[in-house]
Amino acid sequence: MNNTFSLYRLQQLDSQRIERLKRIKQIDQIIASDKAVLKAKSVVQKADDALTSNNNELENVRLKVEEKTLKLKLTQAKLFGGKINAPKELQDLQAESEALRRTIKSLEDEQMVLLEANDVCQDVKKDAEAGLQQLLNKKASENSLLLGEREKLKMQLPKINSQRESLKSQLDEKLLNEYDALFKSKGRVAVAEIFDGSCKACGVELSPTDIQQAANPNVLMKCKSCGRILYKI
Ligand SMILES: [Zn+2]
Repeated sequence: MNNTFSLYRLQQLDSQRIERLKRIKQIDQIIASDKAVLKAKSVVQKADDALTSNNNELENVRLKVEEKTLKLKLTQAKLFGGKINAPKELQDLQAESEALRRTIKSLEDEQMVLLEANDVCQDVKKDAEAGLQQLLNKKASENSLLLGEREKLKMQLPKINSQRESLKSQLDEKLLNEYDALFKSKGRVAVAEIFDGSCKACGVELSPTDIQQAANPNVLMKCKSCGRILYKI
């Protein structure tokens, strides 16, 4: 068995595995932290808050109008009930009635302003909700591509894993330990290809003898600069 080739193949499988896991994590992050969607949701929330506060104000004014109208009715009943005859008292009741009418008029003006503002609030909310829905539709199709990609990557992992395991089981334990140690200490690249006469991992130029040695399946040749196992394709 060609050990160098097996280690090279193991490196390829490890790199494929890392690449896929990294991309899956990236896709999860993209979907979870969609800033545009979060912003559109906060716009809808603000519009909803404004509408709720306007409705509360309207209800307050409506209750005040109700209260003052009832009071006016009572005052009028006293004024024209015939039970009170004292001119001073009648004058006071008259004055109170007028004051109540003025208050009611000003409350009704306030109500009109609030009702107009309510229309605006409803329009703003409707627009914000439509904007959010549009964005969600757009994101759904964008995300469906990402989710499809994620699914495909995930489905490739079991095959890569089983190939790794079967390759590992065929490798000599000492060799595998050496690979693992390099894998951990050299940024998850234990085996480097020889590319254009150089170590592809660190870029150092290799002598023709080194290259020849690396091509020999019986020799485990390491890069003199970075220490990785060299493999001649
Ligand atoms: Zn190197």
